Amino acid sequence: MDGSACDILILGAGPAGISAALTAHARGRSVIVLGADPMGSPLAKAERIGNYPGLAGMSGRQLLSSMLGDLERAGIRRVTGRVTGVMAFGGSFMVSAEQNVYQARTLILAAGARQGEKPLPGEMPLLGKGVSWCATCDGMLYRGKRVAVLSLGGEGEKDAAFLRDIGCEVLYFDPTQAKKAEIKGADRVTAVVCGGAEHPVEGVFVLRDTVAASALLPALPMQDGHIAVDGEMRTGIPGVFAAGDCVGRPYQIARAVGQGNTAALTADGYLKERDK
Ligand SMILES: Cc1cc2nc3c(=O)[nH]c(=O)nc-3n(C[C@H](O)[C@H](O)[C@H](O)COP(=O)(O)OP(=O)(O)OC[C@H]3O[C@@H](n4cnc5c(N)ncnc54)[C@H](O)[C@@H]3O)c2cc1C
Repeated sequence: MDGSACDILILGAGPAGISAALTAHARGRSVIVLGADPMGSPLAKAERIGNYPGLAGMSGRQLLSSMLGDLERAGIRRVTGRVTGVMAFGGSFMVSAEQNVYQARTLILAAGARQGEKPLPGEMPLLGKGVSWCATCDGMLYRGKRVAVLSLGGEGEKDAAFLRDIGCEVLYFDPTQAKKAEIKGADRVTAVVCGGAEHPVEGVFVLRDTVAASALLPALPMQDGHIAVDGEMRTGIPGVFAAGDCVGRPYQIARAVGQGNTAALTADGYLKERDK
């Protein structure tokens, strides 16, 4: 496989994803770990880890750095990027992050928990019809046009500046305004409504720090806001596995690490069956 193709692509570089990567690698699988800045994991906020054996009160940042070091020592490829698209394609998956596309035979979703986040009104029906989740990927389509940036994460201002640099007229909405916004349009985006005012635009960039797995794979069966899995971490989509906080509570490191390990073993078994 070339540098952008692998047996197992792991979405998320938190404890579940790192554990899955180490096990998949130990099984001789080619692996890419693709995720936003790992220090954005909730674990980085933990002052002290008291319930994971053998750590003697390490901080969350220390534990994450140590886990990331394991990936590096094993020579496992890790790419920092926001995954904005997943497409099933002839028995494999095409995964886009920033401006790159990766091909994988299986996916392990280790994307962490998302609490209380719903798409904005109009966002899902108009996705790909003027709504984009990625300024770098789609910005050039709107050169010379008026667009809205709905910033729901920390990178919105940077992306708005990028869109201005390439020649878009940008209306910027900060997180407080953006979370109350509504996107209007029938076949394509026509306007954004925010604070009682309607702003005509041709494109809308809805920018979160990460895109939810359920939005990346709309066919993914969910249960109580989490990805539904069986005991071996299979999701309802063949070739897609999931582990960690994204599959449910309790949100704990030990559980995430164990499930990452199981997901990798199940993905390896799935590939063996396919290759018979
Ligand atoms: C303050 C705090 C203290 C905690 N203390 C403890 C403790 O003491 N003990 C304990 O067991 N647990 C603790 N936890 C819980 C623990 O941090 C989580 O259970 C654990 O991090 C879950 O690991 P995970 O790999 O499933 O998900 P995460 O650690 O959330 O990792 C998922 C990663 O995927 C990335 N991602 C998601 N979607 C995308 C996308 N579309 N594109 C790119 N990247 C994406 C995220 O940015 C994130 O980096 C604590 C949590 C918090 C917030």
